[in-house]
Amino acid sequence: MKLRIDAELCEGHGRCWDLLPELVDADDHGHGFLIDIHASVPPELEQKAREAVRACPERAVTIE
Ligand code: SF4
Repeated sequence: MKLRIDAELCEGHGRCWDLLPELVDADDHGHGFLIDIHASVPPELEQKAREAVRACPERAVTIE
């Protein structure tokens, strides 16, 4: 499982990095970005990753 954040859709609501600080950080404008775009989601974080997908109001967070 890999997480993706579409920077063009992100409006900086901050729910992704609030829920998943292990994988997502925020830039100076509060827009979420993946700390390591090549990293897979560890099994113990898969549930939180799904929550981050559901929590993003812009549907910018997806799972591959
Ligand atoms: S929750 Fe969505 S809109 Fe908010 S920072 Fe994360 S990706 Fe961007």
